Amino acid sequence: MLERLITEAQVSALKNIIESNRKFVVLAHKNPDGDAVGSSLACMLYLRSLGKVADVVLPNNFPDFLRWLPSAGEIVIYENHKEKAVELIKAADVIFCLDFNALSRLGELGDAVAASSAQRVLLDHHLYPEEGFSVAVSSPTACATSELVFRMIYRVSTLDALDLAMAKAMYTGMMTDTGSFAYASNRKDIYLIVAELIAKGVDKDVIYRKVFYNYSESRLKLMGYVLYEKLQFFPHKNASLITLTYDELKRFNVMKGDTEGLVNLPLQKKGLRLSCFLREEQPGKINVSLRSVGDFPCNTLAADFFNGGGHKNASGGEVHDSMEAAVQRFKKAVEAYEALLTK
Ligand code: 5GP
Ligand code: MN
Repeated sequence: MLERLITEAQVSALKNIIESNRKFVVLAHKNPDGDAVGSSLACMLYLRSLGKVADVVLPNNFPDFLRWLPSAGEIVIYENHKEKAVELIKAADVIFCLDFNALSRLGELGDAVAASSAQRVLLDHHLYPEEGFSVAVSSPTACATSELVFRMIYRVSTLDALDLAMAKAMYTGMMTDTGSFAYASNRKDIYLIVAELIAKGVDKDVIYRKVFYNYSESRLKLMGYVLYEKLQFFPHKNASLITLTYDELKRFNVMKGDTEGLVNLPLQKKGLRLSCFLREEQPGKINVSLRSVGDFPCNTLAADFFNGGGHKNASGGEVHDSMEAAVQRFKKAVEAYEALLTK
């Protein structure tokens, strides 16, 4: 009933790799989001259910609102436990690379992966995957990498192989990557899959509350501050910008995940097509988040101006310079893309 996003040849290759190996490591991208964490936990739990040794390693920590996910406490965070992470990667027969298309998206952890002789498997929904994978399932059609993990389990095993813990993790990935099924979610298959996850016992209302109604006090106050004081519109260009400096993040006692989703808020304004959020993670290191509406490709803007990339409507990058320099760069980008923004 589902369209085939994973080819028959890829299914046999995946089956073969899984059957003929014992030690697996599952990785996802830096600054992991709901899909990165959800898809990798589901993949790990599936491999373990087959009797394999499997661990999730993430480059840095994930937001608090994902801590309830099954087995989230077992995730090895490279930034905090470098030796353990490198040891696991060295010992792995197979490395599953989830929700990213290039090793550079792993930061420093990418070097350990590049040095390893393990086979690599890619499951991802970003465009333009790098070379170097024994099996590469790269499907921008999929709403989330979690959808691809579901499809892998379904095709390599059967629906019986899927348990409630895996289902919760995959549902979380699909829900967060589609903004609760508000975008990138018009395909019928998504709801057939969601129906199967609910049949496994997922309570989608509970998961929604756990993820989105779980803000800290500092997050709520920060949201008010950002909307009132820090949001600027470029009204004739249908663009907006939010900046938060390192000092402001400290002042609001901002924790990991507290800024998640702020970039989406300006999109509620009528006619807005591009939202940019510049967050100074460390003095002189600025994280760029971009969101766009409709045909406007914020991933090409991210590549042209912020050394980044991503999806057409959700992308990001980095600036290693001052906030003022990053703001200037965004202004230049808006000028360069004016025709598309106002079309
Ligand atoms: P976020 O704004 O949530 O951090 O990132 C949104 C999306 O942009 C991510 O899912 C990822 O696809 C992409 N992205 C974020 N940062 C980078 C980056 O530095 N490089 C690339 N290539 N993509 C990024
Ligand atoms: Mn994703």
